Formats: sequence, structure tokens, C-alpha cells
Amino acid sequence: MNTGAAMKEEAKRQAAAGETVLVAENLTRHYPVGGGLFQKAAVLKALDGASFELQRGRTLAVVGESGCGKSTLARLVTMIEAPSSGSLIIGGEDVARLDRTERARLRPKVQIVFQNPYGSLNPRQRIGAALEEPLLVNTDLDAAERRRRAMAMMENVGLRPEHYNRYPHMFSGGQRQRIAIARALMLDPDILVLDEPVSALDLSIQAQVLNLLVDLQERLNLAYLFISHDLSVVRYIADTVMVMYLGRPVEHGPAAEVFSTPAHPYTQALLSATPVADPDHVSERIILKGEMPSPIAPPPGCPFNPRCPKAFDRCAQDIPRLHPQGDGRAVSCHLYD
Ligand code: SF4
Repeated sequence: MNTGAAMKEEAKRQAAAGETVLVAENLTRHYPVGGGLFQKAAVLKALDGASFELQRGRTLAVVGESGCGKSTLARLVTMIEAPSSGSLIIGGEDVARLDRTERARLRPKVQIVFQNPYGSLNPRQRIGAALEEPLLVNTDLDAAERRRRAMAMMENVGLRPEHYNRYPHMFSGGQRQRIAIARALMLDPDILVLDEPVSALDLSIQAQVLNLLVDLQERLNLAYLFISHDLSVVRYIADTVMVMYLGRPVEHGPAAEVFSTPAHPYTQALLSATPVADPDHVSERIILKGEMPSPIAPPPGCPFNPRCPKAFDRCAQDIPRLHPQGDGRAVSCHLYD
């Protein structure tokens, strides 16, 4: 590309940065559980009212313990499942109102990278064929163009041309995750859902894959929904953080504020358990009592009250709502009403 064309491309990229590509309002996903002829089904509230936006060139991290609703959120955003209620606007269309065929049309806009890349790659398929498959299924491109794009994407993620004819078992864990990222990018999506993308990798490889993700986001102007239980990884990559507990967001705001002055007692507990690379940093670990309650039978009042070190009388009676705090974040706790 000549200098003029490159400058135009860069100007276009900068203009698009920050553009909103997804808006979720009060997103819920409930599942009926049990029930029968004489018994009413219980309701499992896997996701119970999440509102957030994704912008090009930015990363929203969703954090919380297992069972907090992160994976359900990923399934809704990738349109694998439809929400029970609320709205999910992607590409200007409300996914909640689309039928299965219409959702399939929108699906290339959102792609996902899983924790275990080996599980998402066919062991008998060469890497070149794996990368070309989404193009084969979704486009009319001829074989030569598909190969050209696969080669270009391999270079983008740091793989060499000779890797084209190799099988997944011939790669290391970090390389396999590069292949999974490359495959997710083949259809030129707007949004990448990264579901614990580095949790299965060694620490040194984690840093390489995170750097690759940061670099790709900058070059391709991607919006990331980064799902993780590991706050030290989130601290590195996130612009905004949404902390979830029992299917609900409890704190949501700019990463810098959430990490420097966590407001919700659950965020404080999660952060107190995260190592900080600062020898002068002294913090007291907050040990939470008990387990996360079942989403089929959440406790009355604040769902966190049986484990909260700061709970008071009202907490067992009233459910707190997410209140804006004036510094760009919102917190769901009676201490901040
Ligand atoms: Fe703790 Fe009460 Fe706040 Fe819930 S509302 S987080 S129980 S202080």
C-alpha cells in the first residue's frame, strides 16, 4: 500500500475507533428446571439483567466466579442462544426479535475464541483447511483467494507459511491459540468474544497471546468481550470491567477506577486475592464465607448478603439496584444507594 492509501486507511480506522457495535439492555436468560404434571417448574436465572455496550477498539472484561453468568452471556452475544428478555442490538438489529435464520445471517459479525483451542480444532484437518473453512461456508471466494486470505491471516497472528499444511497436534498450546484466533478472524468480525483465552497457557505464553490480542485489536479495530476469572490478566487488557455475581452485574465501570478503588464488597474480595507486581503494595486478603448460592434459589435481598463481610439488616430484605456513582461506574450495593 502506498503512503497516501495507508494514511487514508489509518484515518478511517481512527474515525471508526470508539463506534458502538453492540448494545445490551437488561439482558436475561432464564431456564425452566424440573416440573411435571403436578409440579411447577423452577426457574434458573443464569443471567438476570445485564446492560452494557461494546465499542470498536475497546475491551469490556466480564469477571466473576464460576456460575456468575459469564458463559451464558457469551452464548447470548455469540447468538448461540436467544435471550429470554431484554434487547441485544448488533449491527443495528435486535437479536432478541430475530428468528433462527436471521440470527445466522448476523453471526459472522461476532466470533468466539475458547479456552481450549485443541477442542475447537479438528485434529484431522490441516491448519490451512481449518482457516479456509469459514470462507468456504460463508462466501463465494474461489480456492486461490481463500488460500491467499488464510496465508495473510497466518502472518497476522505470527504463524509461518509452512504451517499451512500441518495438523493441530504439531503445534504448541500457544500456537494453537494463535490458530483459533486466526480462524475467528477469517470472516472479518466486528466483535470477538474471548472466553478465558489464556487460562490454559503457561505464564510466558499468556503474555505473548495477550500482546497479540492487543496488537490485533489496534490494527483491526475490534471490539473485545473478554471473559475471565483471572483479574491480573483483566488488569492488563481491559478498558472497562463488569463484575458479575449470581447472574447480575454488581460493579461496572472504567478498569482504572475498578482496580484502584473497588467499590462493591464482592469486587474488593476478588481483588484482595489477586497478586500485584509491586513490592510496596500491602493488602489484606478478604476471605469470603461459603459458596455462591444456587441461581435456582437465590437468597432474599442482596444475592451476596450471606457471604458479604459488610452486610447489614436491610441487605437481607431489599435487592439493591445498579446505581451510577458519578465517576463513570455503577454499583449494586445498599452502601452506595
Ligand atoms: Fe454487602 Fe449489603 Fe452491599 Fe449486598 S447490599 S454487597 S450484602 S453491603
